[in-house]
Parts: sequence; C-alpha cells; structure tokens
Amino acid sequence: FNADEQTENYLFKIVLVGDSAVGKSNLLARFARDEFYPNSKSTIGVEFQTQKMEINGKEIKAQIWDTAGQERFRAVTSAYYRGAVGALLVYDISRRQTFESIGRWLNELQTHSDMNVITMLVGNKSDLKDAREVSTAQGRALAEEQGLFFIETSALDSSNVFAAFQTVIREIYGVLS
Ligand code: GDP
Ligand code: MG
Repeated sequence: FNADEQTENYLFKIVLVGDSAVGKSNLLARFARDEFYPNSKSTIGVEFQTQKMEINGKEIKAQIWDTAGQERFRAVTSAYYRGAVGALLVYDISRRQTFESIGRWLNELQTHSDMNVITMLVGNKSDLKDAREVSTAQGRALAEEQGLFFIETSALDSSNVFAAFQTVIREIYGVLS
C-alpha cells in the first residue's frame, strides 16, 4: 500500500472532432451510458462527460468533450481544443464527403491544441455495409500517412466503441505517466 499511488490522479481531456452527423454524440453516448439515439439531433450533445477507467491499478478520468452542433458552421472554438491530450477524429464510412473533411479537421486540431495530441481516426457506422463509400484500406492508409491510430466503429451495434476510447486513453497514459 502506497499513499502516493492512492492519491495520484489523472485527468485526460479528449475531444470529439468531425463533420456533423458522423456519430460523435452517439459514440460518446454508447461509451459513457451504453445508449444510442436513432434520430439524434445536435441538442443531445453535452459539454463533456467524465468516464473513469483503471489502468495499471491507477484511476484515470477521461473528460470527453462533445460539440453542441457548432461544427455544422465550422465554428468550433479554440476553447474546445484547449488542453486536449487526445482526440477522436470521426468520419462516416457511408459518406465519402465526411472522410474528405478529415484533413481540414486535423489541421484545425493541430492549430488549436498544444503539442502532440494522441489522435485516433474513427470510421463510424461500420454497420452500414451496403452503403459503404470509404473502404477500410482507405481509412487505414490515411491514418498511416498522418501518423494516427485507426479503427472502424459502430455506435449502433457497439462494435469497437469501447476499444476506440480505451486505446486513446491507454496511449495517453503511456506518454504522460
Ligand atoms: P454528430 O452530429 O456527429 O454528433 O452525430 P450524431 O451522434 O448526432 O448522429 C447522427 C445520426 O447518425 C443519428 O441519426 C444517429 O442515430 C446516426 N448514427 C450515429 N452513429 C451511428 C452508427 O454507428 N450507425 C448508424 N447506422 N447510425 C449512426
Ligand atoms: Mg453531436
């Protein structure tokens, strides 16, 4: 038993970034509350949600920030990115245009945040197999080119949602601890 270890605290700010309607709010709802909203409007976005996780016996708090829909107007402010140590950069595998926006979001993230933000490229809506417009190989290639982690998820059927957040949190822990 070590008193220092007991009181050591980790709080990681992680931001959700990407075009409107790619599923950012539902990824967070699935991860934090195991909920899904079939017809969600941007109003379900909360400012942030804190999730606890244990890594190597340490309690980690991930403070995950979601937009309230301002990305529709490209009006995400620098306050949103400030202090972020991790990011999920989300596109919708069934809408090519959202994948083509990734470069702009990455640029915005790098402009507004400090140092090295651990970033996961997330191809969401992997359940929409018949409507796929971006292949897994294309997603992976972009991630490799930009030095990002990569995963495909579905907030609808839950696949890989926990893994997406957990990987980012573990990697941050690995860098900061
Ligand atoms: P945001 O604007 O990026 O926060 O996107 P939302 O989370 O509000 O989701 C936009 C729409 O996509 C909603 O109608 C969701 O129900 C739907 N959606 C979100 N994630 C998924 C998913 O993984 N699969 C499918 N089929 N629909 C999803
Ligand atoms: Mg939202």
